[in-house]
Amino acid sequence: MVEKLKKIWCDGEFVDWDAATIHVLTHSLHYGIAAWDGVRAYQRKDGASYVFRLREHIDRLFDSCKLCLLKPAQSPEAIFSACVQTLRVNGMVDGYLRPMVYVGDGAMGVYAPDNTIHSTIMAWRWAAHLGADANDRGIRAKISSFARPHPASAVVKAKITGQYTNSALARAEVKHAGYDEAIHLAVDGYVSEASGSNVFLAKRGVLYTPDLASAILEGVTRDTVIVLARELGMTVVEGRVTREQLWLADEVFLTGTAAEIVPVREIDDRRIGDGHVGAITRKLQERYADITRGSDTSHPEWLTRVGA
Ligand code: PMP
Repeated sequence: MVEKLKKIWCDGEFVDWDAATIHVLTHSLHYGIAAWDGVRAYQRKDGASYVFRLREHIDRLFDSCKLCLLKPAQSPEAIFSACVQTLRVNGMVDGYLRPMVYVGDGAMGVYAPDNTIHSTIMAWRWAAHLGADANDRGIRAKISSFARPHPASAVVKAKITGQYTNSALARAEVKHAGYDEAIHLAVDGYVSEASGSNVFLAKRGVLYTPDLASAILEGVTRDTVIVLARELGMTVVEGRVTREQLWLADEVFLTGTAAEIVPVREIDDRRIGDGHVGAITRKLQERYADITRGSDTSHPEWLTRVGA
């Protein structure tokens, strides 16, 4: 259950949490075109709060809008600073931000180009997305029967509400079967991503992950991990990945803003490696934690200070 904060930013002004409601005729509620992004702010060792890779998240939000022909009323700069303001107004130093652009009420046909486009920014505290001990013990995943949509059927690079029916159905399917998380194949049979994160595997010291031409969201955490892994001298191969590669991997982990870096200890009842968190996963988790919450200053371009 999300704990209420004070304010939500709606179309340029702050509204009390309980007053930030929408009409049931809201077009996005009916047809699934609402672009959003998920961003984290961290309180670092120096005590100050920083938003992690806010620029990249705002860029992706506007890319999602472009892919869906949504024209936000605000500029990327305005949404960027409203995100920082939302944290300040709520006194939140460590938590999750969700900027969203959606189509309001008015016309009710699927094509409603004159309906007002609204923007909102919500913030809430969000601890471990996949359970408290997921990052330490690893999770059990299952390949879902729901393939990721083909790029010819959907805008797979857009982070839009409608896309998440696929994620939600896959997650429900595997949860009902007793697993923690769903991994999707693409319709070509190759590995795509998890329901809310990207997938990596390690084999003989090399990292593999599906490439950007595959049906995946271009995860900001995925990019962070690739940069950090290469800085550590590892080879990262972006390309096609099969589920056999996952089953036979030494290590598998998932990456996402909410999830961070989550080890996978079992997939489809096959133990991954020795069933414990592997050395590469551990190393990347440590680097990620040091960059986000710690004192590492090697990537100042990734940090936006929230300030008082
Ligand atoms: N894929 C999907 C489907 C997601 O929902 C997410 C979470 N935003 C990701 C990948 C990872 O993206 P990011 O690292 O930017 O959070």
